[in-house]
Amino acid sequence: MTYVVTEACIRCKYMDCVEVCPVDCFYAGENMLVIHPDECIDCGVCEPECPADAILPDTEQGLEKWIELNRQYAEQWPNITRKGEAPADADQFKGVDGKFDKYFSPNPDKG
Ligand code: SF4
Ligand code: SF4
Repeated sequence: MTYVVTEACIRCKYMDCVEVCPVDCFYAGENMLVIHPDECIDCGVCEPECPADAILPDTEQGLEKWIELNRQYAEQWPNITRKGEAPADADQFKGVDGKFDKYFSPNPDKG
């Protein structure tokens, strides 16, 4: 089992999750973060910290796409251990549907 970051993170990227992870297993893309499934110890402390409710346990139904995406991009994006500045317009994208198709970026975080 692992925890996964899902669509709700896209363009929200508040990064509160990063601060609490005891094993620093978050990786940063341009518009969202992912969790490395082999490094996550399933402690669950990040899940309630996310203001966008983007983090879910992989035991939830229908997460196959996100499980795969977290695994793939955790290998490509840089590790992130400190909370950076959230996008200025993050609140506008909180809870918006269809963000993957419109805004997902495969690019690594520029920071
Ligand atoms: S706190 Fe939630 S929205 Fe923010 S970066 Fe982490 S998973 Fe994404
Ligand atoms: S469940 Fe724990 S180990 Fe896994 S990403 Fe969240 S805080 Fe890190």
